[in-house]
Amino acid sequence: MELYELGVKQALSGIAKGEFTSEDLVKAIIDRKNSADGEIGAYLTFDEEHALRLARENPTSVPIAIKDLINVSGQPCTCASKMLEGYVSPYDATVISNLKAAGFIPAGRVNMDEFAMGSSTENSGLGVTRNPYDLSRVPGGSSGGSAAAVGGNLCIASLGTDTGGSIRQPASFCNCVGVKPSYGRVSRFGVTAFASSLDQVGPLTKSVEDAAILMKALAGHDERDGTTPRESVPDYLAELQGASMKGVKIGIAKEYFNVAGLDPEVKRITDSAIKMCEDAGAEIVEVSLPHTEYAMAVYYIIAPAEASANLARFDGVRYGHRSEKAVDVFSLYCKSRAEGFGPEVKRRIIMGTYVLSSGYYDAYYGRAQKVRTLIKRDFDEAFTKVDALLSPCAPTSAFAFGEKHDPLTMYLNDLYTIPSSLAGVCASSVPAGFTADTKMPVGVQFICGGFEEAKLLRISKAFEDISPVKAARGI
Ligand code: GLN
Repeated sequence: MELYELGVKQALSGIAKGEFTSEDLVKAIIDRKNSADGEIGAYLTFDEEHALRLARENPTSVPIAIKDLINVSGQPCTCASKMLEGYVSPYDATVISNLKAAGFIPAGRVNMDEFAMGSSTENSGLGVTRNPYDLSRVPGGSSGGSAAAVGGNLCIASLGTDTGGSIRQPASFCNCVGVKPSYGRVSRFGVTAFASSLDQVGPLTKSVEDAAILMKALAGHDERDGTTPRESVPDYLAELQGASMKGVKIGIAKEYFNVAGLDPEVKRITDSAIKMCEDAGAEIVEVSLPHTEYAMAVYYIIAPAEASANLARFDGVRYGHRSEKAVDVFSLYCKSRAEGFGPEVKRRIIMGTYVLSSGYYDAYYGRAQKVRTLIKRDFDEAFTKVDALLSPCAPTSAFAFGEKHDPLTMYLNDLYTIPSSLAGVCASSVPAGFTADTKMPVGVQFICGGFEEAKLLRISKAFEDISPVKAARGI
C-alpha cells in the first residue's frame, strides 16, 4: 500500500510505530499530487515548502487537505473566487489550531464552488475539479476538491464545509465518508461565512473511524464563536467500540421516497441499504417529516439572505479585488464586485438582498424563519421515535459537466441534505454502492439529533461494516 492511500488511523499508527514520519507522508502526497492531480484538479494551491516545514517541526503529525475558505496563517484563502485571488491569510481558523493541537497539519488548499455556493464545483472561479471515478463527471460540491482529493487518494483526509449539503453530497459522489456536525459543534471562527446560521466545518475521510478521530479534534467550545456551547466532546473513536445495528431504530421518512427526481439506481442502493440494516438487527420505522416540501424554498431565502449580508464586506476597499476601472467611490464598489464575483454568487446576493428589502422582509425572510422552526420540529418529533433517519444523500449519483445548467435543477440536488441543515442536526454520508449503469459511487445519509455525533458515528460505523463497498481505499 502506498503512503498516500492511507487513512488517518493507519497514518497515525504507522507514525507511532516509527514506520514513517510526517515528512514522508507529505512527500508521498506531493508526489501523488504531481502525478495524478493534473487530471483531477482537486488542489487549487499546495505550498510544498510550508507543508514540509510543518511536517519537520511536527514529525508525528498527519497532513490534512483544507477547503479553500478556511484560514491558515500565511496561506492563500480564495474561496475559489477571483474576488480573493492573491489574498494571504494572517491567522489560523480555530479548526486549524484545534487540528494542530491534536497532531495534524494543514497541507494543500482544495477547490470548491465560489464562496461554497453550488453542488458541483463548476462554480469555482479558479479551476475545474473532476470526479476521480469518472473524469467526465463532477465531484459534487461545494466541497468538491475535498471529496475528489480523498476519493482520488490525493490526501489522507480533508476538511470541508456544509451549509446545505456541501460535505455530504460530494462525499456521496466521490465514495468518501462525510460528516456534517450539528450546528455549534465545531467553531466557525476563521471560516469564511456563507450562511452563518447553517455553516459547519466537518471531515471527509476514507473511513468512519477516521471521521471520528477528526471530529474529536475539530469539535468543542470556542470563545470566538458564540454558537459553540461548553458541552464536552466525547471520545468519538472510543465510542465506536462494539458499534452494531442490533436494536437500533432507523427511521425512514416517507416524504423522502416519493420524490420525482430520485434516480432508480440511487433508490435501489438506498433500499438495499435499508434491507441490510434490518438484516443486521435494526428496527425499521416509518416516520413523517411533513414540512419537507418547504425546505428548499426556506433554504433559498435564508441562505442567500445571510450570504448577501456576509458578502457585503468584499467591496474592493476593506477586502478583495479592487477594480482599476473605477472613477469614483460608487463605481469602485460596483465595478469591484461586478468583476470579482461569479454569476452564482451574484445571483445569491441579488436574491438575498431582495428577500431582506423593506416590504418583502416579512413576506419572505420572516415567514421562512417560521417555517424553519416547523421543519426543526419535524425532526424533534421523529427523534422521539427513532435513533437515526436513513435516506439517500442526493437524488442522483455524480452527473456530467454542464448537465445541470439551470440553477433550479442544480438546487434540487440538495433535496435530502437541506432539511437537516435547517434543523441544525448532525448527518453523515457513508458509501453504500455503485450504480449498475454508470458505475458511480452512491452514499446513504444518516441523520441524528443535535449534538448526537457519537450516536451518528456509531450507526455510520455499523453500516460501514455491513456495506458492500468501502470508502476510497485502493483506487
Ligand atoms: N448546494 C447548496 C448551495 O448551493 C449547499 C452549499 C453548501 O452546503 N455550502 O447553497
